[in-house]
Amino acid sequence: MLIDTHCHVHVNAFKDDMDEVIKRALASGVKMITVGTQRDTSASGLLVAEKYEGVWASVGLHPNHVCDPEFLDPNELEHPVHGETFDPGYYRKLALHPKCVAIGECGLDYYRLPEGGDHALMKRKQEEALRAHFDLATELGKPVIIHCRDAHAEQTKIIREYVEAGKLARRGVIHCFTGTLDEARAYIELGFYISFTGIITFPPRKDEGEVSPLQQTVKGISIDRILIETDAPYLTPIPFRGKRNEPAHVKFVAEKIAQLKGMTMEEVAKITTENAQQLFDLN
Ligand SMILES: [Zn+2]
Ligand SMILES: [Zn+2]
Repeated sequence: MLIDTHCHVHVNAFKDDMDEVIKRALASGVKMITVGTQRDTSASGLLVAEKYEGVWASVGLHPNHVCDPEFLDPNELEHPVHGETFDPGYYRKLALHPKCVAIGECGLDYYRLPEGGDHALMKRKQEEALRAHFDLATELGKPVIIHCRDAHAEQTKIIREYVEAGKLARRGVIHCFTGTLDEARAYIELGFYISFTGIITFPPRKDEGEVSPLQQTVKGISIDRILIETDAPYLTPIPFRGKRNEPAHVKFVAEKIAQLKGMTMEEVAKITTENAQQLFDLN
């Protein structure tokens, strides 16, 4: 059994075959958390989780939706959506659903700031939304799912501030981790888990030697702090790179971790599943 701790199986990319995709994963022993990214996908993920044993959901506002005045990702939603301000009342109501296991994805994304905008203002708005998620997670006693690109120093600083104030008791996970080993260690010291996607299956660049820096990070941190995910429909692992991703493919992430760490697939499956069950209180 494996748990895909971060997918978006209820978004537009799966509009024609979502139920088949979910059943295929469950039949192969893969359970999943389907993650909300803004107000509509946060509500609709819960409806899917209601239908299936072995599917849970999270609710939150992705940083791209905070800072982009008009955001369009046809894989996510059919129509462009306007930039959203995090409304704690709206998300609190959703988060009280028994199948909501986390707040997020929320975070800081300095990599995809829209061109031509006021970047200082956008970063400030992202931070405000992030803090509002952290406050809600603290209030409701839920873990957070964090999305972070090119902002690990700022992200770590804010987490540390909350943790030192006795907040975020349930901690959380840094999803789709692509930072350095030192950055991963800083999160782990704060009690967070690190989650890897199919990116770890991609071969190193020519100038990187036998093992990519990200694969070195997998080798360098304890399996006790690792979660696995697909981020489907994105980031498809080898051997399906280039095609639409789906939760059943999380096994390729687990296999790569086993290979990199010299462990058996059974050990990786058992430990990462226990990690996910513990963090998200799954049963
Ligand atoms: Zn993300
Ligand atoms: Zn995601």
